Amino acid sequence: MRKDLRVTTVLAVANQKGGVAKTTTVASLGAALSALGQRVLVVDLDPQGCLTFSLGHNPDRLERSVNEVLAGDLDAVDAVLKTDDGMDLLPATIDLAGAEALLLMRPGREFALKRALSPLLGSYDVIIIDCPPSLGVLTLNGLTAAQSVLVPLQCETLAHRGVGQLLRTVREVQAITNPDLVLLGALPTLYDARTTHSRDVLADVSDRYSLAVLAPPIPRTVKFAEASASGATVLAGRKNKGADAYRELADNLVKHWAGNEVVTFAPELA
Ligand code: ADP
Ligand code: MG
Repeated sequence: MRKDLRVTTVLAVANQKGGVAKTTTVASLGAALSALGQRVLVVDLDPQGCLTFSLGHNPDRLERSVNEVLAGDLDAVDAVLKTDDGMDLLPATIDLAGAEALLLMRPGREFALKRALSPLLGSYDVIIIDCPPSLGVLTLNGLTAAQSVLVPLQCETLAHRGVGQLLRTVREVQAITNPDLVLLGALPTLYDARTTHSRDVLADVSDRYSLAVLAPPIPRTVKFAEASASGATVLAGRKNKGADAYRELADNLVKHWAGNEVVTFAPELA
């Protein structure tokens, strides 16, 4: 199935577990896609505002954010900021937690983000949504607005805990609010290629849930911590294997969106 590249692809990055590299993946993949010439918007849906902060904007100083957009008080285009990594950002602030509570009382609450993003669809090639570490109404908004969902999976013992619940939520969203949602697969993060442990965990999770595992695995490297403190992504820094892995993932996804099979990683063969 060939797809017109001018059509916007909306990708949600979700896992209710914290610390699995959702935000890092949104920022780094966004930067890598921008570097490939794609027009990219990243959306911060986490009240902690980590994506906003890691892309050089202070969530405490913003007057306009996704909060007002979800409340229906502001057009998304009027909250969008530029970033040094080439992509645009729809930022979040801590008040998003309050906006979430208000959203819960509204009809069609799962559709607020989808409705807000629809006027922007022609302006971007890719929109990537950074979901918060919960399966609440914000994540439901992310999954309802998206065409596909990517699940970062930290390759450590007990990584599988919660995956079943997440997949159940994805199936419910497919049944109720977004029949077209495609589960793209798991992305191995914080991957340690030097031991067999990461590989064993991945093989277990992908078997247990018959989940596709996207290539390449993202290696664990200290560069990520350094980057998020600097207000730019790892792609802005010196050459490193973390940035290279996200570039390869971006390349994989662009080819996939142009009609090719997504390249997967076979943990048992690695
Ligand atoms: P989440 O959004 O799922 O909570 P984050 O993207 O905030 O996760 O990542 C959690 C922590 O792990 C951050 O401190 C981040 O810098 C670090 N991190 C993410 N990816 C890597 C990696 N490949 N190697 C080392 N540290 C990483
Ligand atoms: Mg996060």
